[in-house]
Amino acid sequence: MKLVLLGPPGAGKGTQAAMLVKKFAIPQISTGDMLRTAVSGQTPMGIKAKGYMDAGDLVPDEVVVGIVRERLQQVDCATGFILDGFPRTVPQADALKLNLVELSKELDAVISLDVDIDSLVERLTGRRSCGDCGKGFHLKFDPPGADGKCDVCSGELKQRADDQEETIRKRMAVYHQQTAPLEDYYRQAGLLIAVDGMAEITSVQQQILMALQVA
Ligand code: AMP
Repeated sequence: MKLVLLGPPGAGKGTQAAMLVKKFAIPQISTGDMLRTAVSGQTPMGIKAKGYMDAGDLVPDEVVVGIVRERLQQVDCATGFILDGFPRTVPQADALKLNLVELSKELDAVISLDVDIDSLVERLTGRRSCGDCGKGFHLKFDPPGADGKCDVCSGELKQRADDQEETIRKRMAVYHQQTAPLEDYYRQAGLLIAVDGMAEITSVQQQILMALQVA
């Protein structure tokens, strides 16, 4: 199964991708995670990307196109993959199309998580994750047992640098300008599956699996 997950920041792409990883035994390719790893490792790419990410801007197309191109060639992507957070611009979508042609592959579907932007700000400002094991929490919807501590390993919970309200609003504006046009792009290609991303997590899962006809 070769899938793209489309939706604004906080729409639940990462959560749904985790479910699809288990269901289909295929890797999740999150450009946001790959870039954050590069930033914390202070690689040349990470150093270049950090300023854009902290400001809520998109990292230049050629940087992300390059990392996805390399990643798709790896052996674990042979039977499928879930792209989470890529493509985010029309040029990225065009580059993906070319990469897949080179690899003799085609997308099966693009899942668009439809959400109400205002409630996303609440979702994002409450997001926390464990600095040690990476487990995610939400201060309101999935709070940890003890304030600021991970339930699994007692590690310290952290907030992403770009989950501050001002940066979130910037990321939403960027989504509208640069990423939302991809809904039409993929609708015209006959690949778009739109699901109600405001429903309960399990109901969103069901909608996706039914649309893929594998529930
Ligand atoms: P995410 O974790 O997907 O919300 O991504 C966090 C940040 O990484 C974004 O706000 C961008 O700065 C950068 N980023 C992730 N994916 C892309 C992409 N496909 N194109 C450009 N920038 C990206």
